Amino acid sequence: MKARAAIFDRAGQPCRIEELPLPARLNAGGLLVEISVATICGSDLHTHAGRRTEPAPCVLGHEGVGRVIAVGEGREGWLHRRITWSSTDSCGVCPPCTEWQMPQKCERVFKYGHAALDEASGLHGTYATHIVLRAGTHLVEAPRHVPDAVVASANCSLATMANVTEHLPSPCHVAVVQGAGLLGLHGCALLRAAGVRRVIVVDTDDVRLARVAEFGGEAAISGDVASRLADVVIEAAGEPSIVKEGMRMLRPGGHYLLVGMVHPDSALGITGEAVIRTCASLRGFHNYAPRHLDRAVAFLSESALPWASLVSPPLPLEHLEEGFALSATRRWARVAVAMAW
Ligand SMILES: [Zn+2]
Ligand SMILES: [Zn+2]
Repeated sequence: MKARAAIFDRAGQPCRIEELPLPARLNAGGLLVEISVATICGSDLHTHAGRRTEPAPCVLGHEGVGRVIAVGEGREGWLHRRITWSSTDSCGVCPPCTEWQMPQKCERVFKYGHAALDEASGLHGTYATHIVLRAGTHLVEAPRHVPDAVVASANCSLATMANVTEHLPSPCHVAVVQGAGLLGLHGCALLRAAGVRRVIVVDTDDVRLARVAEFGGEAAISGDVASRLADVVIEAAGEPSIVKEGMRMLRPGGHYLLVGMVHPDSALGITGEAVIRTCASLRGFHNYAPRHLDRAVAFLSESALPWASLVSPPLPLEHLEEGFALSATRRWARVAVAMAW
């Protein structure tokens, strides 16, 4: 048996489908997972379009769900279980992993969907029928009643937002979320669940704003939001030009949480004076720790929100390029790719 994988060679060139051998044996703590569904992340669109560079050739994709079909020593209890997994693998012994409790910043961190094909089995991305998970990867069983396409993106956007929303000021009655993409909607739902009375989600795209109410928020364009209204402002748009607006909306002593601008073109355009006079706490968030993934999957399981409406009907892996094009239209918050077809 072999894996089928979409290989990314370079920006501007379509991914090619190749067969890759499955590993003959797994290292201790490793697992072989047969992927059922992957979802296409905006970060892969950046790589595919050449806006950022990854080691290549490689298998992209880090959002996924699948069934464990083989296990290395110590992971026997996970065999046959339907799981999702942390998007990073960490060592468990360095200062970030232990004292700082930020395993996503591990000194030896390994990121799925970001490793070259010639590293170990090469099966490190989710745009493939199989993925090999490493010993330091956190696993979460997928709740039976939550569909594959909904579970798939929990290990990226929702887990990251579970991290962000742990850092709210007290009191926190009003939140502004900048950006009504998947991060923004996930943030909105988590904020409402945390007891925030008003969550205002700002965007410029009517299609995206139309989804906000279903997730408990109020849709707005930024100019309509009053100054100094928000206890917390969350930047989830990836757009540095909105930071000045965000500061305007923040009340004295509020928190400004930055999560979307994971690219170098992100000079903030605000003054130190604005931060000081607002007595603002600014904090950045990148990925998450295991407890945030646990929280994300539990939240999907317990909440009755229309998660499935955010994800496209699945495309076959062979149509991944079509999926990238569909993602770029923003018709769906996530485009799904199914491996069995
Ligand atoms: Zn992602
Ligand atoms: Zn570490």
